[in-house]
Amino acid sequence: MARTDLRQRIADARAQRAARDRVRMRRTASRRDGVRFEVDGQWLTGFCGNDYLGLSQHFAVVNALQDTAAREGAGGVASHLICGHHAAHVALEREVADWLGVPSALLFGSGFMANLAVVQALLGEGDVCVQDRLNHASLIDAARLAGCSLRRYPHADAEGALRQLRGVPEGAALLATDGVFSMDGDVAPLKQLALVARAQRAVMYVDDAHGAGVLGPEGRGSVADAGLGVDAVPLQLVTLGKALGSYGAVVAGDAELVRHLAETARPYIYTTALPPAQAAASLAAVKLARRDQWRRDRLVASIARFREGAMKRGFELMPSDTPIQPLVCGEDARALAFAQALEAQGAWVAAIRPPTVPEGQARLRIAFSALHSDADVDGLLEALEWAREAVGNGFPVDRAARA
Ligand SMILES: *Cc1c(COP(=O)(O)O)cnc(C)c1O
Repeated sequence: MARTDLRQRIADARAQRAARDRVRMRRTASRRDGVRFEVDGQWLTGFCGNDYLGLSQHFAVVNALQDTAAREGAGGVASHLICGHHAAHVALEREVADWLGVPSALLFGSGFMANLAVVQALLGEGDVCVQDRLNHASLIDAARLAGCSLRRYPHADAEGALRQLRGVPEGAALLATDGVFSMDGDVAPLKQLALVARAQRAVMYVDDAHGAGVLGPEGRGSVADAGLGVDAVPLQLVTLGKALGSYGAVVAGDAELVRHLAETARPYIYTTALPPAQAAASLAAVKLARRDQWRRDRLVASIARFREGAMKRGFELMPSDTPIQPLVCGEDARALAFAQALEAQGAWVAAIRPPTVPEGQARLRIAFSALHSDADVDGLLEALEWAREAVGNGFPVDRAARA
């Protein structure tokens, strides 16, 4: 047996990705101003961020960050269990628990780490984690790392979840789902899933990265919107980097489960605490998200305006009422060409390709913010129409085509 040449394998894999339009490229923004991004010297209107409420540059959020950094510094100093735990973290955890109406909450460095923590701390060998097929990559990886068995059910199929749980009657069980699906924008059938979890004595965990701040009363998210409490959903994830416009994540819910995470979860214990300044910024953002219903109203208006306009123009939309409004293009190359054509019209929309979405379902992931005006939405609709012509007719869209 010969040793695999790792560098050769990497080079081959990249060549294969390149041949299939699957190379991932980063675009660099040099400046941001609300939903405008300066990219390669040109200002574009972004429909690709997750700053759904438009809080990331809010003066109260930025002031909290600056004030706390001025007093406490830029860093986290140590992990929470050593000496990194700070009053700013506690204040944020209390605010999130109060907001969601749950007993307890725990702050994590990111949503990805929080998901790793929850599944690892709760499950091990002999246990099962049942998940929606379209769950976020971090939940899938979490189950793999936990060493439990991972069973995936067809998207949004509560009966499928029931079948999977019935198939593994022994060991502890976690039923984990995204609240709002990040690439489709639809909401999980949480009520039905909660019934399944109860019947099968599984703990239900909802990753509400895209629902928190956006859905439900006071923006409490998809769980509250479904009328479910901590009995039905003992743990949920609120990420702070999306609608809250900050960074980090909070796992909220049952006090004993949360304490178990704080005392045993490796991605909580073996990492530096978030800087207190970042926690202070998040606290300011949560307060704004609770108070400013107008931000959600603006989103609802933009979503309705977009859907009506897109359907009038013959675009096929997915069944989503959330700020995530995907347009499926099919082939990778088509999605890329579409995004390029939109950029030529001044709109920045992300083309999402496999493996982030299933094969043959490359798409434009259009995302709205409370900061988009009606004119922004209308401009996007016109750009889409223009782009469809450009891509359909196959004439090349390049920088020179930018009006
Ligand atoms: C973004 C996202 C995460 C990860 O959160 P980060 O704070 O960005 O690490 C987890 N789950 C879902 C569904 C997400 O969309």
